[in-house]
Amino acid sequence: MNIVLVSSEVHPFSKTGGLADVASALPLALASLGHTVTVVSPWYESLTRHPFPQFNLDAPHVVDQMGVGQLEEGGVRWVFLSSPLFERDTYYGYWDDAYRFTQFCLAVPHALEGLAIHPDVIHLNDWQTGLLAPILRFGDVPDNQRRAKTVFTIHNLAYQGRWGLRDVLGWTGLPDWTGQPNGLEMNGDANLLKAGVWYADRVTTVSPRYAWEVTTPEGGFGLDGALRTRGVTGILNGIDSSYWNPATDKYLETNYSTLEGKSAARVALCKALELDPSRPTLAMITRLSEQKGLSIFFAALEAIAYDWNIVILGSGDAGAESALHWFGQGRENVYYNNGFVEPLAHRIYAGADAFLMPSLFEPCGLAQMIAMRYGSVPIVRHVGGLLDTVPEEKGYTFSEYSSYALLGAVGRAKAEWGKPAFTNRAIRGMQSDFSWDTAAKQYVTMYAGL
Ligand code: ADP
Repeated sequence: MNIVLVSSEVHPFSKTGGLADVASALPLALASLGHTVTVVSPWYESLTRHPFPQFNLDAPHVVDQMGVGQLEEGGVRWVFLSSPLFERDTYYGYWDDAYRFTQFCLAVPHALEGLAIHPDVIHLNDWQTGLLAPILRFGDVPDNQRRAKTVFTIHNLAYQGRWGLRDVLGWTGLPDWTGQPNGLEMNGDANLLKAGVWYADRVTTVSPRYAWEVTTPEGGFGLDGALRTRGVTGILNGIDSSYWNPATDKYLETNYSTLEGKSAARVALCKALELDPSRPTLAMITRLSEQKGLSIFFAALEAIAYDWNIVILGSGDAGAESALHWFGQGRENVYYNNGFVEPLAHRIYAGADAFLMPSLFEPCGLAQMIAMRYGSVPIVRHVGGLLDTVPEEKGYTFSEYSSYALLGAVGRAKAEWGKPAFTNRAIRGMQSDFSWDTAAKQYVTMYAGL
């Protein structure tokens, strides 16, 4: 099959979270199954400084300057669209995000046509790519692109991309009747994620549990009705198990493949961060947003710090960043870094004893799988993909969204740290198969049935 995956971020070129990991690992896994795979993503700096073959795009409704460049690696073609629209300090969070990604969506079919890529399936991801579903059906696009089937995958329903309906219909030239409740409209606005949900041939999300949660009023963010109407398939994400591999990880001083081997990484981390290695270390590597369970975490933080070394690598919410900064002041057992630091993330996954994810909701979550692969025992709230990936025999779990329930699980982990109950969990985690093989085959079966 000729498969195109469209994503607003893709590791190692751009990343704010798990979407970037998926957008590179899934294509590589599909290519290794013998399919022809292309990834299309924005390029967030000036492309002209790079030696890719490139051309300028001229396409209907694309009014901003848009360049197309490509490279080949790992059997996958990586296509980047560059534009002054994308050259900003961060990828998202601007008042005109809806406009920026509308321009991106309008450009994609013409970029593919310009590269003579004629896909069987175009796989869209999250709100930034949602408008492509109606654009491919009803927009001004080449026939070779219109014949592609579309899949829309929800990686996070909390971000939907809303803007005035008239503007979006005007920018895209989509017919007026697409701007209805039975279409891309929601509460009077255009909803770019809903455009994907409504008009893609198939809607999926990244874990079976989350696929159910999004169809409930509690987890549907206002779109549960639309999602019940369309139906959602849950396909559990994997992790790139050659990239996330403690036996070969280039960022680690000493590589390991058994729990015994991990002790060197533990000591190295404690030494580097000036922590006492005789205490257990609890880590978090996370975007700081309420989704990640910040309110129950902060309520429990003081009590956790009594027993554990705490290592947090995370940025996001400014209030949470400064709270963590001040909490760490003068405490020898607390390390906080608000950067986005790939090498440090690897060393933390390897050097921690336990890894905390007390999420309010969690579509899939990759960090807990990475932690398990590195022998760090996950402590998770049983919600979304955390429920699908962390059974109690591999981690410490709790259900209620409260700091009491969180402290209960953390307390059990502390009580069992160093004992077989704890180490057996770590060993079972390390033995788990989180590779993309299973998921890639499920996607292929789904593509083939469209
Ligand atoms: P989400 O996609 O909701 O942010 P996931 O658990 O699915 O959460 O994926 C998070 C990914 O981002 C993981 O690969 C994690 O290691 C990485 N990550 C998150 N914060 C940081 C950070 N501050 N520095 C380095 N990597 C980070």
